[in-house]
Amino acid sequence: MANTGVQTASGARTGEQFLEGLDHSGREIWLRGERITHPLQHPELRAAARSMAKVFDLQHEHADEMLMPSPDDSSLSVNVTHVIPRTREDLVRRRRAFELVATLSGGMMGRTPDYLNVTFACFAGRSDVWTRRGNEQGAANLVAYQAQMRDRDLSTTHALMNPQVDRTKPEAEQAMGQVSLHKVADTEQGIVVRGARMLATLAPFADELLIYPGSDIRPQDGRYALAFAIPIATTGLRFICRDSYSKQRDPYDYPLSSRFDEMDAVVIFDDVEIPRERVFLDGDTVGYSEVITDTGWRGHIMHQAFTRAYVKLCFALGLGHVIANTTGVVRFDHIQEKLGQIWAMCELARSALVAAEAEAKLDAGGVMYPDDRPFIALRGEMPKWLPRANEYIQLIGGGGFMATPSKADLEGPLREQIDLYFQAAGADAERRIRLFRLAWDFLGSELGGRGELYERFYLSDSWRMTALAYNIADKSFPESLVEQFLRD
Ligand SMILES: Cc1cc2nc3c(=O)[nH]c(=O)nc-3n(C[C@H](O)[C@H](O)[C@H](O)COP(=O)(O)OP(=O)(O)OC[C@H]3O[C@@H](n4cnc5c(N)ncnc54)[C@H](O)[C@@H]3O)c2cc1C
Repeated sequence: MANTGVQTASGARTGEQFLEGLDHSGREIWLRGERITHPLQHPELRAAARSMAKVFDLQHEHADEMLMPSPDDSSLSVNVTHVIPRTREDLVRRRRAFELVATLSGGMMGRTPDYLNVTFACFAGRSDVWTRRGNEQGAANLVAYQAQMRDRDLSTTHALMNPQVDRTKPEAEQAMGQVSLHKVADTEQGIVVRGARMLATLAPFADELLIYPGSDIRPQDGRYALAFAIPIATTGLRFICRDSYSKQRDPYDYPLSSRFDEMDAVVIFDDVEIPRERVFLDGDTVGYSEVITDTGWRGHIMHQAFTRAYVKLCFALGLGHVIANTTGVVRFDHIQEKLGQIWAMCELARSALVAAEAEAKLDAGGVMYPDDRPFIALRGEMPKWLPRANEYIQLIGGGGFMATPSKADLEGPLREQIDLYFQAAGADAERRIRLFRLAWDFLGSELGGRGELYERFYLSDSWRMTALAYNIADKSFPESLVEQFLRD
């Protein structure tokens, strides 16, 4: 068992401390056949590592808004996204921190550490749910782990889904039960697990991997019902990355791909031993479902997710708006209609966040729970809105996305002709090309395409989520409107 470079509670880290913490030879991150132990060593991971470092620096630049004293040691300042909210003000403050982080990448990085900070804060806030059916030790482990995560300012990744062997069958019936993550042994120190999970976004830039429930499990399949946390540098733990979409090009050419490829990986557990104190759930298939339904995870995670999505929608609106004004198409009414639709998405997302906070209530465990109704509605819609915003930007920009010579062309012998032939009514050639390249990187580059896929799936698929929204919605008022006319 190896360990992470981040050993002691330091409170909120700087970017430099974050990068130092990733320095461990036990890390197994595989990218195109090469094992990478530190992302700064690899040209295709370096830029995103630096962007992540900026996320850590940001909390010091906005210390008033983003830091709070640790509840366990007031001499430590910790990130406010670890807060277990007790008041509406806690929710508002937390949202402001999400917004600052998302703004850094225009919402392109979805899995910055605040995502899992919120998840584990809500799990720890409802440790009573984890204690059920005799799991007091697992619950205590989880509470202790959340305090560590907060006070050591860990960067974490997670992987909830089992690989796509056969989605029609339960884990135990796919590939003889061997592929999905499962327990194979108990040891004196803990448990041994084997199998794989997808997708660990941020893995090369994470200190630790978190495993917690992502789907229901049959009562007879207890060995698949697991929740735990381990350092990335753990013997037998292996991450296989997709191709990098990072571009080692001037930011003029690829302003987003040159900075924000947060990477996705499949994680393989090759008989990995999880120390007992890092195990939160082991075998309780009922608990496996309940920690998702009863801890408030749904409302809390969507508070983070839709703040980021709101920022990304605003970025999309900004791109469409600036392009339309640059080429003059803003004067056409159907272009205004498309811009108006993106604006409406932004405004509805913002309203959902405000409504969820305004109607928040203390839950049974004394945690302030955002009203999840607007979020449940958005959970089905947002995965459709963001791809639709991309479509509108395409329709606004037309072929202009392809009239985009590179920085090297601008610096070459054709500059005078480029200045003449690539100008727009609202911008000189250099600015017009830069703008269209930015928008293409947002929606059409490899990173842009991955971003669209992410929006469609990162919170499961939108079709099932819309169906779920209908199934769990309170339909009593709509029903009563009908029933009043079905009586005498
Ligand atoms: C870019 C990206 C990053 C991600 N990052 C993370 C991460 O960091 N951590 C993490 O845990 N997960 C992550 N995910 C995974 C995400 O949780 C899953 O993609 C999502 O849950 C959908 O599962 P799937 O991809 O296995 O698709 P599948 O479940 O295989 O679905 C494929 C298609 O089949 C349909 N389908 C499947 N099963 C059913 C069914 N029972 N009924 C009806 N239709 C069905 C789906 O609607 C969909 O259209 C990421 C995904 C993407 C794309």
